[in-house]
Amino acid sequence: MKKHNFYAGPSILSEYTLTKTAEAIKDFAGTGLSILEISHRSKEFTAVIENAAAMVKELLDVPAGYSVLFLGGGASTQFCMVPFNLLKKKAGYLDTGTWANKAIKEAKLFGEVEVVASSKEANYTYIPKDYTIPADADYFHFTTNNTIYGTEIRKDLDSPVPLVADMSSDIFSRPIDVSKYDIIYAGAQKNLAPAGVTIVIVKDEAMGHVERAIPTMLDYRTHISKGSMFNTPPVLPVFSALKTLEWYKELGGVKKLEEMDKAKAAVLYDAIDSSKMFVGTVQNAEDRSIMNVCFVMQPEYKELEKDFVDFASTKGIVGIKGHRSVGGFRASLYNALPMESVEVLVAAMKEFEAKH
Ligand SMILES: *Cc1c(COP(=O)(O)O)cnc(C)c1O
Repeated sequence: MKKHNFYAGPSILSEYTLTKTAEAIKDFAGTGLSILEISHRSKEFTAVIENAAAMVKELLDVPAGYSVLFLGGGASTQFCMVPFNLLKKKAGYLDTGTWANKAIKEAKLFGEVEVVASSKEANYTYIPKDYTIPADADYFHFTTNNTIYGTEIRKDLDSPVPLVADMSSDIFSRPIDVSKYDIIYAGAQKNLAPAGVTIVIVKDEAMGHVERAIPTMLDYRTHISKGSMFNTPPVLPVFSALKTLEWYKELGGVKKLEEMDKAKAAVLYDAIDSSKMFVGTVQNAEDRSIMNVCFVMQPEYKELEKDFVDFASTKGIVGIKGHRSVGGFRASLYNALPMESVEVLVAAMKEFEAKH
């Protein structure tokens, strides 16, 4: 049976990415060797990582003066690398959930952290709007898409100081004004590639202004100067990332991807909003994520939640169980998920509702 993969991460990859990756595992670039067993310094792999950086720059329209890095350690390592390299005295952070909190915790190891606003009291079901970014901060950090709670900030905030953003789960779902940012980072396993690589877009001249000593591997300048080849990069995920980026370009780039993502999200939110059984956990339309759609059952149907997960699985639907801190359901609609899968999910919801 065809599977409809709604996992939040690691998550669905395009057929193109999977096929090309499988081919390269057998025979990489006509070398007669697997990509898994070839030197990362071979000319064939050097071309892959250079092309991948160039594709990120092209798709996101990255201005001159920025470097694109492919690092290990996940987005979570960026929670500490960012303040290690940027925080002189004080930084502003927006608390929109679990990932934002983890970033705040690390930043506090390096200096003063002003949490400008939080939606914790409402279990992060909305994006705070009334706050002032301190003009004396070294940077302002926010999470663009809150993977767990299904809220999203789909714009480049106005700020008196440079922005830093965790875009792990919505990078490549809209055009970005990169010039507003000192650092953008994203773990690849949500919207790009298998787990193991993190994309980091760094403004070169924002580096080198802190007094503290920075361990070599945690200093962005190390990776900028070595083209992400200071140590062995995550070779296979970088290769898959390049294939996904090629596929994104072929589809028409991030503007087109945004249109497709918005169309998919609209179909699912409409189905939720018109249902008597299901209800969205995020009420403000402008705060609703187009990447992760979170919903639960109305109190009178609550005990049927597990049954719905089982029913959906008979239709090939996988990965819709909500995160334990929200409950209910979460359908992740990343770029590689086809509209057809959303339609299958919506049909399953309607069929289940009609039965009960
Ligand atoms: C998944 C996720 C992370 C954590 O990524 P790792 O690569 O597992 O460290 C961080 N931020 C956001 C927004 C995420 O969705």
